[in-house]
Amino acid sequence: MQIPLIDLKAQYLSIKPEIDQAMQEVIENTAFIGGKALSDFEKSFAEFCGANHCVGVASGTAALHLALCALDVGPGDEVITVSHTFIATAEVVKTVGAKVKFVDIDPYTYCMDPAAMEAAITENTKVIIPVHIYGYVCDMDPIHEIAKKHGIYVLEDAAQSHGARYKGNRVGSLAEMGTFSFYPGKNLGAYGDGGGMTFAKKELAEKADMLANHGRWEKYKHLVEGYNARLDALQAAVLNVKLKHLDGWSENRRQAAKIYDGLLADVGEVTIPPVGSDTVEPVYHLYVIQVPNRDAVFEELRSRGVMSQCHYPIPLHLQPAYEHLGMKRGTLPVCEALADKCVSLPMFPEITEEQCKYAIKTLKDILAGK
Ligand SMILES: *Cc1c(COP(=O)(O)O)cnc(C)c1O
Repeated sequence: MQIPLIDLKAQYLSIKPEIDQAMQEVIENTAFIGGKALSDFEKSFAEFCGANHCVGVASGTAALHLALCALDVGPGDEVITVSHTFIATAEVVKTVGAKVKFVDIDPYTYCMDPAAMEAAITENTKVIIPVHIYGYVCDMDPIHEIAKKHGIYVLEDAAQSHGARYKGNRVGSLAEMGTFSFYPGKNLGAYGDGGGMTFAKKELAEKADMLANHGRWEKYKHLVEGYNARLDALQAAVLNVKLKHLDGWSENRRQAAKIYDGLLADVGEVTIPPVGSDTVEPVYHLYVIQVPNRDAVFEELRSRGVMSQCHYPIPLHLQPAYEHLGMKRGTLPVCEALADKCVSLPMFPEITEEQCKYAIKTLKDILAGK
């Protein structure tokens, strides 16, 4: 049996007529930039998140960048985030000329450790970016409490958690601003690059919208210098179709996770991901376990047809790109330990019970030396 890490083809086939029609409509109307597909999506996605406003942008990276621009982050400012994330979260801090500070994660949720975050705050700290990693949600209450005390903005990086809930509310509505990626492999994925920003306040939404579109408020009238970072209409049309299915797909992911959790319950060497609770309803962008002897297990899983991955094998603070920060191994022990042991098992809404069982049987065989 071959089990892919994700199966975008299976998903396309399950909604092919809707997708084909939505894309065809954009093409026939030749409204490729802006237009109804985009405004419909922005409205629907804001509603979905429980946010007041949404602006579609070119990628998750563009969303993070524009969020920092909208908050006027620049040289002299510091931004605190986690080392255990995709590099985009940190890259954009450099893009606006500010300084990134990496902090450790909580060993259970794999999300930002609020105490570590508080310890990293200085008088130059302007924004903190908690990352809802793997489809889980950061513990937002203590983060907000600390941020409020120090007068710091909170920006959610929700690129991996579309639809996940914290105390009943969805990510994207848990702070001043939220940013999303619609990269094809994300839980809500376009057919190319795409991203979105959600807002509580209209002024910030308008500012981000303007910055994403050359700083203009009307054609050829530019208030400030901006960027070309728009979400194009074909992607918005795809996202409009897929958003209607997202809650169902998230439920399928939770069911698959439940199967994995059950089959792994008696495997002492394996640590399973954080489970849903009264506080958090996760959406399992990835199903990440911790195993001893990771590299060997990982290679063996793949060679037996279970297409696992490591998210992420090297934390950002130990990457060559961040050598200049001078953070040696040992400075962020929790995320370093996770990076050494993490394996992402196949996870996608269309995964079958049979596939889950095969993946775990294979893993058990490998751990037993069979
Ligand atoms: C994917 C991702 C991004 C970047 O999104 P792109 O659309 O690829 O630019 C940012 N942050 C996290 C946590 C991500 O997983």
